[in-house]
Amino acid sequence: MKHVAVLTSGGDAPGMNAAIRSVVRCGVAKGWKMFGVRNGFRGLITGNIVEMNTRDVGGIIQKGGTILGSARCEEFKTEEGRYQAIRELRQKGIDALIVIGGNGSQTGSYYLNNQGFPVVGIASTIDNDLCGSEMTIGVDTALNIALEAIDRLKVTASSHQRAFLLEVMGRDCGYLALMVGIAGGAEYILIPEIETDPEQVAKTLRLAYEHGKTHALIVVAEGAKYNAEALIAFFEKHEDRLGFKIRATILGHVQRGGTPGAFDRNLASRLGHGAIEAIDREEYGVLVGLNQSKITTTPLEEIVGKIKSVSMEMVELAHILD
Ligand code: ATP
Repeated sequence: MKHVAVLTSGGDAPGMNAAIRSVVRCGVAKGWKMFGVRNGFRGLITGNIVEMNTRDVGGIIQKGGTILGSARCEEFKTEEGRYQAIRELRQKGIDALIVIGGNGSQTGSYYLNNQGFPVVGIASTIDNDLCGSEMTIGVDTALNIALEAIDRLKVTASSHQRAFLLEVMGRDCGYLALMVGIAGGAEYILIPEIETDPEQVAKTLRLAYEHGKTHALIVVAEGAKYNAEALIAFFEKHEDRLGFKIRATILGHVQRGGTPGAFDRNLASRLGHGAIEAIDREEYGVLVGLNQSKITTTPLEEIVGKIKSVSMEMVELAHILD
């Protein structure tokens, strides 16, 4: 009988609870003892680990956030911090750990596994910047939240004949901005991966009005060189010459807090099951992800230190459709 612990780490993502539920229930179905670690890697270091059974994960599938809590933990980035975590895990009789999280969290999983403690990762971040999974838990819900914001902004923008800008999350990866920009019919999308000239943005907006559009929409990722702050400063500085202003909405953490949609709940349920199956095969040091509609495992060493880039086909499509 195996003893398996699960934790959530990094930024919370809608669907994390569905993943916890799946991990616990699939583990219990195998006759294993399951444990939850509170507050991510910090809870490992402090030994904040409790047993969880099927009933403890009842009524959480529809909830955003994470019932286990999450935290950023600098100590875990040190070898000594991770040895302390391993001591706590061994003392509680845990055989393997499941880490639900994004890039930073899976880097932590990789180092912990290399230090001798068996770990399996589950791909979860609203940024969708993790290699080894085409979609990560939380992305689809975050996209739909941002899309609803766009649809609402469009109503007011067309009443006032305004250019408006929406900033979405994405420090290093423009996935959310690109996909919600296409889905929302944006005139311009600015992402960290592609250098943009703000004069070109202004020209596109002017053309949009000349072609009779009643509103114009720009979507920017927070990590783009010209994000909301930089673009507003540019338009204000050149207002006399450009002839118009833009109104900005920064979505920020609103994107994280939603009720997970069907896609994220089902993805999380499948990935949770995949992680338990990987542990059953004693296949450790891997990330469980979704690739070509199948649940797959990818060695953590192949994904650590990499950032998934956006599809250039989608960038081209965005240009055709604007
Ligand atoms: P998201 O991108 O969705 O916010 P994330 O998993 O990338 O999620 P991070 O804040 O980057 O979030 O990382 C979460 C935690 O993972 C960190 O607080 C730290 O404890 C651990 N971690 C990050 N990088 C490393 C590393 N290089 N070595 C060991 N642990 C790490």
